[in-house]
Amino acid sequence: MVSASDPAVERFAPSPTGELHLGHAFSALTAWEAAQAAGGTFLLRMDDLDTGRCRPKFARCIEEDLRFLGLTWPEPVLYQSTRAKSHCAVIDDLADKGLVYGCVCTRAEIQAAAGAPQEGAPDGPPYPGTCRERSEVPSDKAHALRLDMKKAIDFLGGPDAVRALSFEEIGEGPRGEHGMIPLDPQMLIEQVGDVVLRRKDGAIAYHLGVVLDDGFQGVTHVTRGQDLFPSTPIHRLLQALTGTPTPVYRHHRLIRDENGRRLAKRHKDLSLAVLRESGATPEDIRSSVGLAPAGQSAG
Ligand code: GLU
Repeated sequence: MVSASDPAVERFAPSPTGELHLGHAFSALTAWEAAQAAGGTFLLRMDDLDTGRCRPKFARCIEEDLRFLGLTWPEPVLYQSTRAKSHCAVIDDLADKGLVYGCVCTRAEIQAAAGAPQEGAPDGPPYPGTCRERSEVPSDKAHALRLDMKKAIDFLGGPDAVRALSFEEIGEGPRGEHGMIPLDPQMLIEQVGDVVLRRKDGAIAYHLGVVLDDGFQGVTHVTRGQDLFPSTPIHRLLQALTGTPTPVYRHHRLIRDENGRRLAKRHKDLSLAVLRESGATPEDIRSSVGLAPAGQSAG
């Protein structure tokens, strides 16, 4: 496991599917300042696995926004989609271990079979396992690839061995979680379930992509919003399964609008590009997300 005292490699990894908003600015600035404070490196990565929704114009706009905020990063920027071959090789390896199965279920079928959503499930209702029981997936049908969570836990040595896996939280989860957070195998089976590793359209799914590429880039510190805290046990489990180092995690508060709603890319009025065009300065952006003026931040 990476230690909090290792030379920091921080990253900001947006998906170029829209314009950045104040929440992204807060996340990027928090990662940047942590890297600066530690004398480390700040990386920008484009998480463009969802190629259908990603656009080059958004990637350009993201870079302009970040430069406007005063951030710099080493070139070239890594685009996750360029790593498809390596991602697929890892899935093949997990399949060789018998931990992966094909799934032809539609979202509606999963929803109907799963019933009421469970609190704390990072990807909506856990998959009910319909295709896990099939002896073979029809090869002429587009299918997703899922991780068999129970088998994965057994492969790692069973529930006790998985409980001994943990990650270090140096920020705060949504319920104040901090420090060493052990995995909970029962929660992984009952609330997370058989996560998708490769989507039906062939794209590598978020959880695996982020784990492999953070590992590939030598990221030591993952700074991101608390909305992704519930995904972290999945990432820790995938790190164990794929032999990928575990970074330190710093989950931060979310930036909300005046109604307390988390910002989303669809709230165009709060995009950084619009704010820039309307004359906002980098200091205005910092102050609207509760950051001290540049150069005066603690630590
Ligand atoms: N690409 C993810 C997003 O845009 C963030 C990746 C991560 O921090 O895990 O939400």
